[in-house]
This record gives sequence, C-alpha cells and structure tokens, in this order.
Amino acid sequence: MQTIKFSQTVSLIREYLFPLGCAVCGQTLLNKREAWFGLCGNCYDSFPREQRRCCSACGRPLISEAEICMNCRRTDAPAVAYDSMTLLYQYIGRAETLLKAYKFGKHRVLARFFSEKLISAMNCLPSGAIWTPVPPRKGKIKTAGWDQIEHIARILEKQMNIPVFRCLKRIASKAQKTLGQSERLTNLQGRILCTKNPPEEVIVFDDVFTTGSTMDVCARTLKSAGAKKVHGICLFYN
Ligand SMILES: [Zn+2]
Ligand SMILES: [Zn+2]
Repeated sequence: MQTIKFSQTVSLIREYLFPLGCAVCGQTLLNKREAWFGLCGNCYDSFPREQRRCCSACGRPLISEAEICMNCRRTDAPAVAYDSMTLLYQYIGRAETLLKAYKFGKHRVLARFFSEKLISAMNCLPSGAIWTPVPPRKGKIKTAGWDQIEHIARILEKQMNIPVFRCLKRIASKAQKTLGQSERLTNLQGRILCTKNPPEEVIVFDDVFTTGSTMDVCARTLKSAGAKKVHGICLFYN
C-alpha cells in the first residue's frame, strides 16, 4: 500500500512539472479545463455519451427493435446475475488509445474524465445505489504498480463526492484475458468474495467489458451476500 501511495505521489509531482499533452492526439493542452481532464477540446468532444438503445440484459447497443440482443436471446445464453448493464464506448480507435494512455502511458489524470463519464451515464439510477469497484486481480498491482480502477474510485470519492464502498475481494485466479467465456466463469466462480455486508442496491464499475463474466460473478457474490439489486457499468466494451 505504501509503495502505491509513493508511486502516486511521484506521478502527481511529475504531472505537475512535466505536463503531458492530450492523451489521444498528443497536442499541447491549452487551458485549465483541458489539463484537468488530460484531453484537448476536440478529443474530449469526440467521446459524447452514446445515446443508443442497449440490450436490457448485457448492455450492448441494440441493432433491432427488440429489447434483448441476439446474443442474449439464444436459448443457451447463460443467465446473468446483474439487473442492468451500462456500457459506454466501443473499445476501438480513439477509445483504445485513451484507455491505453491511462493504463500504460502515465496519463492518470484521465481518471477525472472517466469518473465524469461514469456518473453522467448512471445519473438516472435510484440515488440510494452505492458504487463498488471490481476488485483487481491478485498480483496485478504488483506488476503495474497501481490499481487503475481504485484510482477512479478515489476520484469519485474525493472530487465528485460519490461514496464508494469497497466490499469485493479477489483471490488468486488465472488472468481472465487468456481464457474463453466458459473458462472465464469457472476461473472466477467462488474467487470473488464479499468481505462486508453489501448495500441493498449496488453499482459495480470496471474499465472493459468483454464477456461479462467478471461482472456476473461480482453480481452473484453481492447478491448471495444480501444485495437486492446489482447494476454494472463499464467504460468500454469489446
Ligand atoms: Zn487531443
Ligand atoms: Zn444482450
């Protein structure tokens, strides 16, 4: 924990002394607002809230008039434990550059942009719902030096006044991205624990939604610990 705090302090000092350009196009940031979000005005505007109709089961954008997408309508589609899923941007092009700049390119300031997008996408939910981050994989923080989701959680708390309740914990499992969908579920089953009594209504947030299995296991865990409703939100989807 001490090491994480230290590396965050170092990165804050570095960001102050040597400000990075726009996380997407690299252009010099021209004013306070651009520097605050780490994005130039053009790149900021290129991420409007996608006002698309989304599948009520998985949250992916819908192509047809139906309420549920083709994938979720399949009879062999696994039932999901979350009550709703909100997905913001497809993980391609600029969106991919953006997340990579945040995760690997030292543009930690983007957590402010992500927090703002998360809140504006979820502002229609009942106000009693409490935000909970997806727990990091064991060893990830050690390798990367910081927890990217936890950093967003801190911005939500400190700069947006959104209470964040940390109650999920992950026990060692293989990295999800190396596995297929069914393997992902088995890999995670029972490996996410709820360490405190959860709130009645929870919003679980994460960066990327791929198969939904991490969200599903988080929702299952929260519900078996007593949560009544679990909503998911992810910044990007594959
Ligand atoms: Zn830009
Ligand atoms: Zn769906």
